[in-house]
Amino acid sequence: MSDSDGKKTLGLMGGPRSGQVKQSFSHGRTKSVVVETKRKRVVVPKPVATKPGGGGSSARGGDPSKRPAGITDAELERRMKALAAARAREAEETAQREADEKARAEERERRRAEIDAKEREEREREEALKAKAEEEERRKREEAAIKARANAPVAPAATPADLEAQTADSPRGKSSVAPRKVDDRETDRNAKNAKTREDSRRSGKLTLNQALTGGEGGRQRSMAQMKRKQDRARQKAMGQQVEREKIVRNVNLPEAITVQELAVRMAERVADVVKFLMKEGVMATQNQVIDADLAELVIEEFGHKVVRVSDSDVEQVIDQVADDPKDLKPRAPIITVMGHVDHGKTSLLDAIRKAKVVSGEAGGITQHIGAYQVTTEAGTNLTFLDTPGHAAFTSMRARGAQVTDIVVLVVAADDAVMPQTIEAIHHAKAANVPMIVAINKIDRPAANPTKVRTDLLNHEVVVEKMSGDVLDVEVSALTGQGMDSLLEAIALQAELLDLKANPDRAAMGAVIEAQLDVGRGPVATVLVQNGTLKRGDIFVVGEQWGKVRALINDKGERVNEAGPSVPVEVLGLNGTPEAGDVLNVVDTEAQAREIAEYRAHASKDKRAAAGAATTLEQMMAKAKADQEVAELHILLKADVQGSAEAIVQALEKIGNDEVRVRVLHYGVGAITESDIGLAEASGAPVIGFNVRANAPARNAASQKGVEIRYYSVIYDLVDDVTAAASGLLSAEVRENFIGYAEIREVFKVSNVGNVAGCLVTEGVARRSAGVRLLRDNTVIHEGTLKTLKRFKDEVPEVQSGQECGMAFEKYDDVRPGDVIEIFEREEVERNLS
Ligand code: GDP
Repeated sequence: MSDSDGKKTLGLMGGPRSGQVKQSFSHGRTKSVVVETKRKRVVVPKPVATKPGGGGSSARGGDPSKRPAGITDAELERRMKALAAARAREAEETAQREADEKARAEERERRRAEIDAKEREEREREEALKAKAEEEERRKREEAAIKARANAPVAPAATPADLEAQTADSPRGKSSVAPRKVDDRETDRNAKNAKTREDSRRSGKLTLNQALTGGEGGRQRSMAQMKRKQDRARQKAMGQQVEREKIVRNVNLPEAITVQELAVRMAERVADVVKFLMKEGVMATQNQVIDADLAELVIEEFGHKVVRVSDSDVEQVIDQVADDPKDLKPRAPIITVMGHVDHGKTSLLDAIRKAKVVSGEAGGITQHIGAYQVTTEAGTNLTFLDTPGHAAFTSMRARGAQVTDIVVLVVAADDAVMPQTIEAIHHAKAANVPMIVAINKIDRPAANPTKVRTDLLNHEVVVEKMSGDVLDVEVSALTGQGMDSLLEAIALQAELLDLKANPDRAAMGAVIEAQLDVGRGPVATVLVQNGTLKRGDIFVVGEQWGKVRALINDKGERVNEAGPSVPVEVLGLNGTPEAGDVLNVVDTEAQAREIAEYRAHASKDKRAAAGAATTLEQMMAKAKADQEVAELHILLKADVQGSAEAIVQALEKIGNDEVRVRVLHYGVGAITESDIGLAEASGAPVIGFNVRANAPARNAASQKGVEIRYYSVIYDLVDDVTAAASGLLSAEVRENFIGYAEIREVFKVSNVGNVAGCLVTEGVARRSAGVRLLRDNTVIHEGTLKTLKRFKDEVPEVQSGQECGMAFEKYDDVRPGDVIEIFEREEVERNLS
């Protein structure tokens, strides 16, 4: 690298030695290089034995022949000395350790003796106390016996001697299965105490049982435990009653319970329960669910009483007592606005709200919570549900919450009765709720309210102007015209209904809206239907529960309570419920939790069993079993009005004295989610005549277990319904949909005709299967396939997600956007119960 010019070499400090190497090159040039070498570690062989205090070196250690290389005499001597010193120190330490050990053992012995003495003392005191208590007890019993004998000399009274014999005879063995009394447990505990004493005497060995029962034999007690014991002893010495009286509890036992909940219900320590279960051979953690039989064993072991409750009994804590008529006070009616899209539902709700907010309440800041309350000029309170549309209405009804008292049917005066108007009429009729017709947009030049009225006649809605009993009012949501008359009409209708509720009871209400608010957690708008909801109330709502943390009214103000027909936002839920869920106030959190858990469980079961909920067969089976359900409800959707009406007429002719068919609702067009909602609420199957359910409706139906049946021939349809109605269902030809394909492009191919280039969107396309051509969810052709091609090859099957070419046998009118439904038929034996 460099000639030795005084530069330092790079290298390890200290250890390495450096040296010079001379390099020679051609032409006589030389170069001297500094190299460094590492010193090797020298291993010194250990001297074999050195006598402590031998001073200096031993004979062998000093032997220069055995001396490791490179060590001077002086160094060796130094090392030997150090070694000797270390040895001496070690010996000293050992001696010290031994002495310490001995002292500790003595200390331990002394402490144990102390504890033993203390225990003995305690035991004696305990026994003395107990003897005293027993003596007293005996005296009492004797007195009672004497009294009893005096009162009823015929009855064989137990003599004191008998009683004594009884106490002496109480079982000593441990039988955990047989129910035992608390007295038995007392003796049992004594026996256990004796055993523990024995164990402590035979200390040193740890048996499995000791380990499990935590006996002192195997373990040192913790300081805290000793302290507790001393405290107890001190209290006892001061004459205080330490042993609390055993309270026998009635333990409600559902079909399954967690170990922790069981302990809570018995008011025992979870650890004790776990310990007992271990002894029974069940290794359970506190969150583990055990069945009722095992739980019963535990409850009996702890000396409590078992009260078995079936799962659904948990709901019984909900206050279901009917109100005394004298407690009932008038309440505001609850109104839902329904009608065809764009006929002015939202505008009407806004107009009512604004009119009232401006003229009446101060502030005027309103917030949308799903419902609001207004007061009419005459002072009547009206509650409006602020969620127009039929979905909300039916979903609530389907969940068992009949919230609405009055339906306001909005029909635009410049339009006519439209499909959704008809749907609304059917919804109201199915729910048995009175209607008020609001003929809206009366300000428009094209308004023709008379036409609306006559139109309604066709749907069995006879308004007052047509000498019927349905109130009708001409309004304009835009100008506010007729608004007061509408409110008056509602108030009048409400008066007729004579709506009442009892504000002085645990609240019950229905959820109108619920969402998870980022800042506030789950929030639900609840319409109180009975009772009064207060802050701090514990409630269960659907599958959720909670404790009312805050109540916020429709004006955004915090309130302390909400009475009947008052909508409020409720904060303090543990989860988000669903619209239509019913809220009930209960007494304790445990009850609320239990009910919520039970419901969650039950609904899971129900979902699992869905798919077979509302079939024609079941409807009829139910109709047969339950004499009151003698009507077969049906929802019908058809491709054209003519066939729908023909089918309805044919269906309504079916039936006899026992059963008849009632078409709840019929319409033209695809089966929608709203239809499924109504079907679920009314427990009816949906029949599609040459129409199909759209995708959301299909999903909803399979989720809710609503049966959808498709027909293409009126005769088949009527035949099936007749068969269902008479309970004579023969073997059924069932259609299974195996796939759907969407037509992307249409090619003209000579000799073949039109070939549809499709994408299989669902399931499979099968060459041998039947096919239907759907346009806007309406069947326009049914037949078979002439060809099914994948690329250039004819194939038997094409899977979902793949493209293929299809051509129909004897049918050519295929268009892009059409859907091909692929189905197979199978014969199914019906089993009617
Ligand atoms: P919804 O779909 O039933 O809720 O109907 P909307 O309330 O959204 O109303 C649909 C349209 O009709 C809106 O453009 C409104 O401005 C209009 N509209 C509603 N009520 C009236 C009315 O009384 N008179 C007039 N001229 N227009 C109205």
